[in-house]
Amino acid sequence: MIIMKFGGTSVGTADSVKSVLSIVRNRLDEQPVLVVSALSGVTNRLEELGRTAPAGETDTAPLVERHRKLLRELELPEDLLDGLLSEMADLVRGMKLVSEASPRARDLLLSLGERCSVRLLAKYFSDNGVPAQAVDAFDLGLRTDSNFGRAKPLPDDGRIAENLARVVGLPVVTGYLGADEKGDITTLGRNGSDFSAALFGHALNAREIQVWTDVDGVMTADPALVAGARSIPTMSFGEAGELAYYGGKVLHPATIQPAMEKSIPVRVLNTHYPDSPGTVILQEYDSPGMPVRAIVHKPGVYLINLVAPPMLQQHGFLAKVFNAAAKHEVDVDLVATTEVSITMTSDRGDGMPGFCRDLEELGDVTVDTDHSMLGVVGQGISRTRGFAAQVLGTLAEEDIRVRAISQGAIKVALGMVINNEDLTRAVNALHDRFFG
Ligand code: ASP
Ligand code: MG
Repeated sequence: MIIMKFGGTSVGTADSVKSVLSIVRNRLDEQPVLVVSALSGVTNRLEELGRTAPAGETDTAPLVERHRKLLRELELPEDLLDGLLSEMADLVRGMKLVSEASPRARDLLLSLGERCSVRLLAKYFSDNGVPAQAVDAFDLGLRTDSNFGRAKPLPDDGRIAENLARVVGLPVVTGYLGADEKGDITTLGRNGSDFSAALFGHALNAREIQVWTDVDGVMTADPALVAGARSIPTMSFGEAGELAYYGGKVLHPATIQPAMEKSIPVRVLNTHYPDSPGTVILQEYDSPGMPVRAIVHKPGVYLINLVAPPMLQQHGFLAKVFNAAAKHEVDVDLVATTEVSITMTSDRGDGMPGFCRDLEELGDVTVDTDHSMLGVVGQGISRTRGFAAQVLGTLAEEDIRVRAISQGAIKVALGMVINNEDLTRAVNALHDRFFG
């Protein structure tokens, strides 16, 4: 069987829902299991309500109308989702009454987005000749810890496959959701539906995981910055992981993991152009003569500098730095060290003040906020002599200053930190150099 994951834009309008039906209809003999996100924009709105409801903002009317309108356009019963939609209104009213929203209550609220979209889609399919059944991931047995908002899945004991076998018709499963051991609904973190797709692919031993989205697969650079960006036909898991790490937007970083564990190919496809080949990501892939697969970036990262007193006999200095990062849940991305200093980047703000306070006990700390991480990703980097010289030379020609640089011994990516204002020029120059 295959997993077909459809993101929010694929179920956002009547036209895209119709495309989804025709895409799936053509692949029924591959025994697809669908994994679906909330209608585009719905999770954002629910998240906002979870924040504002305790202060009194409880207007769910736009969300109700959003769903009702799509139901009307698809000629489905307009009241199909009324049960869930009134649960939504009750929940935010409850948050207003008690002037607070616990993480658990917020996840329950967020879950309504996917619980609505799968019911809508399954009903549309069933009414149009493809008998389908809406399934909530938590009923299927996707268990997580109780870290609401960013729950981690627990190992599957075989129950997902067992429960799925009982589903009659085409299963249309909620992405993004699970439940903890108590049965409370959890979410896997924003954009978690790709991760769900990979988890189900793993649990069901899928032949392939298809991620249907609104772009032609994984691109050589962000098309919003680079006019000539094009789609990458094939890449390796290692490259995809680096790509996600450096801010590539198509795949959730953790998506790769469960698929990788079982070497299941992940194919990224475009719902609006189902015939374009997209990108397939394989366990092993290398292409001679093409060192670079993509130029990726992540804007708005923190650049943290710690200058320590001379590190003579300073055993465990780096351990102290990383223990502080762990304690404050700061995700450190790129790291460069010298005898007297350590430079790090991070994109999470919450724990930063506490982290910096702890670092100040180790030395002088500065934090620059207006930086971007830039990654040049490709398996072929490791066999290309003078590769760093090519990259840095290209940036030097553009008069772009590189603040930090990192490349491991297993070279699938070269990471750099530059000023935000240089980002567009840097990405274009490197794209021209390697793909022009
Ligand atoms: N609906 C969720 C979100 O917007 C999950 C997803 O789309 O992957 O974050
Ligand atoms: Mg998404």
